[in-house]
Amino acid sequence: MLESLLIIILLGPPGAGKGTVAQRLVEDFEVQHMSTGDMLRAEVSGRTELGKQIEDTVKEGKLVEDTLVSAVVKTGIDKIRTDGLPKVIVLDGYPRTEDQARSLSEFTGRDRKILVVVIDVPDEEVSARILGRRICTVCKKVYGSVEPGQRCTCGGELIQRSDDTEETVKVRLNTYHTQQAALSQYYRERVGQINGVGPINEVYKRVADYFLGLGIKKRRQ
Ligand code: AMP
Repeated sequence: MLESLLIIILLGPPGAGKGTVAQRLVEDFEVQHMSTGDMLRAEVSGRTELGKQIEDTVKEGKLVEDTLVSAVVKTGIDKIRTDGLPKVIVLDGYPRTEDQARSLSEFTGRDRKILVVVIDVPDEEVSARILGRRICTVCKKVYGSVEPGQRCTCGGELIQRSDDTEETVKVRLNTYHTQQAALSQYYRERVGQINGVGPINEVYKRVADYFLGLGIKKRRQ
């Protein structure tokens, strides 16, 4: 029985399938998903003070300032703790820098464990995937590829994310490689590697097996 907070950091280049894997983990396991990309885009589209401040940075695919992102994540984790929700959190897109990793360790206190799962995919493959993917404007479900005129199963319109352009992908991949080396060093012995090449069902199964191995509870079907 896992009682204290367990934080699992999903790492991998943009387009590695982290979002899809996380969606399915939430369906199958008693976990909470937090994606900083989704949270920051929500701030931008909601025209909040923070949203206006970070809009250009997010659109250019550059990293938002550490203190701003860490504050957003801290608020989310504090809420999960006070609401008594499942105590396993899958963090997607955070931390991306060593400073963020240090903040996470600090604001989550001692009563927690942090593990890292890296989904490995070569650069050429992720670029092709990103440029083909579409996202639902309503439920945010991600599709790897779509037919012309196709809509989401919820009826929503499927669009390309504004930061999924060729220019931005290059910037995001470079940024990822620089930061990833530092993070893997920071978490060292707490890092698990998953092969992210192949159909998403297979990649997901590898991650799900890893979760089962950690003793994370499945939801009752
Ligand atoms: P993602 O959906 O994870 O690819 O994130 C989309 C964009 O949100 C990134 O290109 C950054 O501009 C911003 N972002 C998301 N997470 C972070 C983070 N941990 N630190 C800084 N910027 C972030």
